[in-house]
Amino acid sequence: MLRQVAEGVLIHESEFCQSNAVVVQGRAGVLLIDPGVQGHEMACLANDLRELGQPVVAGFSTHPHWDHLLWHAGLGAAPRYGTARCAATVRDRLSDPGAKARIAAQLIPPDIAEQVPLDLLGLITGLPADTVRIPWDGPQVRIIEHQAHAPGHAALLIEERGVLVAGDMLSDVLIPMLDLNGTADPIEDHLAALRLLEGVAGDADVLIPGHGSVGGADQVHARIERDRAYVLALREGHVPVTPGSAHRLRPAGNG
Ligand SMILES: [Zn+2]
Repeated sequence: MLRQVAEGVLIHESEFCQSNAVVVQGRAGVLLIDPGVQGHEMACLANDLRELGQPVVAGFSTHPHWDHLLWHAGLGAAPRYGTARCAATVRDRLSDPGAKARIAAQLIPPDIAEQVPLDLLGLITGLPADTVRIPWDGPQVRIIEHQAHAPGHAALLIEERGVLVAGDMLSDVLIPMLDLNGTADPIEDHLAALRLLEGVAGDADVLIPGHGSVGGADQVHARIERDRAYVLALREGHVPVTPGSAHRLRPAGNG
């Protein structure tokens, strides 16, 4: 079921980890960000969009983790984008023939593995490294790329709608997950990413995390502060580090 969270911006929530697919209405169809997880959920989304007469004209994956790289044939054959680093990482990780089987066996939780269609996994085109906005016919969507959680991770700011799509940053249900691969100082990278998001927070009335609940302007600042406190605690050694590929729920009442 689609739910409107701002003018022309809707979300479709998955049963898996409260994942949010984001639909942005454009002139001739919609931009679909992180389409969803289970096949029946994406088919449901495709149906909803068909009933609204809104074809998908572009797709975007916020980062190269399996649960943000899926697609369903019912969504059509629109171009799917990611940052250049995201696309290069996907290409690299899917380069050997056993890659999808490995993802299914090692990364996707067994209880939903059969419901996750991998045939269209990761078929994204990398946008040139200096691309500022997603190329499509709709509200301008600014790409805010940063080094945190996964290579080429991007948050998106839908400027005219005051919506910040945070990817796997600023979740209220998952703890901050650092990108521990191929980066010298993942903690400083994460703090830098939070500063970058803080820089656009004033333009966001609505925050949509990749997993968790949608928040208002107050939540943008509150979650940045909470995640910064967590990452600083990591640096002090007060809490153990969790890699970006692991989804770990926040303990209840985690301040
Ligand atoms: Zn992720």
